[in-house]
Amino acid sequence: MKKILILLIIVSLSLFSVGCKNTTASVNTNSKVAASSENKSNNNSTNKVSSNSNTPNNIKTQTKQEDLKYNNEGIPVLMYHSVKYEKDNPVRIPVEKFKEQMKYLKDNGYSTLSLDELYDFLENNKPIPKKSVVLTFDDGYKDNYENAYPILKEYGFKATIFMITSCIGTGEYLTLNQLKELQQNGIDIESHTVNHEKLNTLSYEKKLETLKTSKETLEKLLNKEVKYIAYPYGNYDDSVVRAAKASGYKLAVTTKGTWSDKADGILTLDRVHISGFSDLDNFKLRISTPDYNK
Ligand SMILES: [Zn+2]
Repeated sequence: MKKILILLIIVSLSLFSVGCKNTTASVNTNSKVAASSENKSNNNSTNKVSSNSNTPNNIKTQTKQEDLKYNNEGIPVLMYHSVKYEKDNPVRIPVEKFKEQMKYLKDNGYSTLSLDELYDFLENNKPIPKKSVVLTFDDGYKDNYENAYPILKEYGFKATIFMITSCIGTGEYLTLNQLKELQQNGIDIESHTVNHEKLNTLSYEKKLETLKTSKETLEKLLNKEVKYIAYPYGNYDDSVVRAAKASGYKLAVTTKGTWSDKADGILTLDRVHISGFSDLDNFKLRISTPDYNK
C-alpha cells in the first residue's frame, strides 16, 4: 500500500503519468518532454547500382563513401511515446501525423537504425548512411502495436520500444504476445525499468534492483539479450549511470532534446523530442539540424 502511495506521488509529480492502471500520457507543460525519435532502416535507397555494367558481378551494392558519415558527426535519435490522438496532449502523436513523418523519411531516402547499429556507430565508428535516424518509443503503449507498427512494417523501418516491465499486459500497455511479435519483426524491445521509477531518487541498491530486474524479465520473456535502457523522465545522475553500467547496459538514452553524439557519453545519449503538436516543417528541422534548439 505504501509502495502504491509513493508511486502515485511520483506519478503526480511527473511530467506525464505512467503507472499501468488508469494511465494516460498526460499533458506536460514542460516543452522538453514531448519528444520523438525516429529512425529509418531501409538502406536500399542509398545503394547505387552501376549503370553501365554488363554482368551482374558489376552491380555495386555498397553505399557510396560520400553518402556515409562517421562518429565525428551526430545522429537524431527520435523519441515518441503514444501514437494515438488525444486533445491537448503533446505526448501523444496522432496516427496521421506519425504516418506523414514516416512517409517523409521514406520518400527522402532516410535509413532507420537499430540500437545495435547506433552503438556500433558511436562506439566503434562504424559508418552509417548520412541520412540516418533512430526511432524510439517510451513506456510500451499498446497503440505502438496497433497504430505505429503497421506503418513501420509498411516502410520496412526498424524501431525500439522501451518497455516498463510491470505494465506488460495491463491497461493500455503492450501484451506479451504483442511484444513477441514486434521483437520478431524488427521492433526491438528494451528496458524502461520495472515501475518507471525516478532513478536518481532511489538508493543505489534499489537502482540496481529495477535496472537488473527489468532487464532479466525481458530477457526471459523474449529470449534475447537486453542491452539498452531509457531512463524514465530522462532522469539520471552519476550514480544512475554507474548502476546502469553495473547492471550490464551498454547504451542508455535520456530525454535531453538534441542530436546524439559521441560527446554525450554512451550511457547518457540525447534524444530529439517530437511533439504531437509539431508540424512537418518542425519535424524536418529536427531531423536535419543537429542544433535545432539554438
Ligand atoms: Zn517513460
